[in-house]
Amino acid sequence: MSRQGLSEDPRMVIWFDIDNTLYSAGTRISQVMGKRIHAYFVSMGLHEEEASELHLKYYKEYGLALRGLTRHHKIDPLDFDEKCDGTLPLEDLIRPDPKLRSLFEDLDRTKVRVWALTNAYKNHANRVLNILNIRDQIEGLVYCDYEQPNFTCKPEADYYHDAMRQAGISDTSKCLFVDDSKQNVISAKRLGWGRCAHFHEAGLVTVEGGKAKTLGQNGDTAADTDDIVVINNLEELRIVWPDIFSK
Ligand SMILES: [Mg+2]
Repeated sequence: MSRQGLSEDPRMVIWFDIDNTLYSAGTRISQVMGKRIHAYFVSMGLHEEEASELHLKYYKEYGLALRGLTRHHKIDPLDFDEKCDGTLPLEDLIRPDPKLRSLFEDLDRTKVRVWALTNAYKNHANRVLNILNIRDQIEGLVYCDYEQPNFTCKPEADYYHDAMRQAGISDTSKCLFVDDSKQNVISAKRLGWGRCAHFHEAGLVTVEGGKAKTLGQNGDTAADTDDIVVINNLEELRIVWPDIFSK
């Protein structure tokens, strides 16, 4: 996988999910997002109940409602993105977070490269990173390429492999990963990614597949999975992985 003729960068790569990871589920963005996705299903001619069922089914099956929509229905993923993520009032819901910026600034770049790995399209991803004022802290962004007819997304193995290819890293043990989705971290761990952290804000309510759920109930953390650490604040990364911070 290494680029021909070039030796691979010896540093590790830390991959950050974006939504509900770089900002808290307490922002309730997932709730607003869920409503827009539901409205999209309804606009396809489905009744309210059918829309809810299918939304949840696709989320569970594919990790992303849109993945199911593009597989089983004739829809334009870019139109979906424009109507759902594109209309989110993000500027009202999140703001620059100096603590988060310090966390990124304190990552030791001689040891680790910093990438984002999201299931969103690039427009939404860049918008969030810009509002949080950390876009310049992220070296590379791997996003779901909705322009490709058969795009992949987390937790599919192909998506992680493609991400590694984009970052030019072939050693899975050198990949560190932080995500709020249990499935996504488990998938990364199964592929041999060296260190995985499940960002889990127990007690907060989030919406997944159109359904609200309280985090911390029904064994929804990856705590029982070997070698996955569970954190409820990104600051805890300084404690669990102290070697990648310069201070
Ligand atoms: Mg997320």
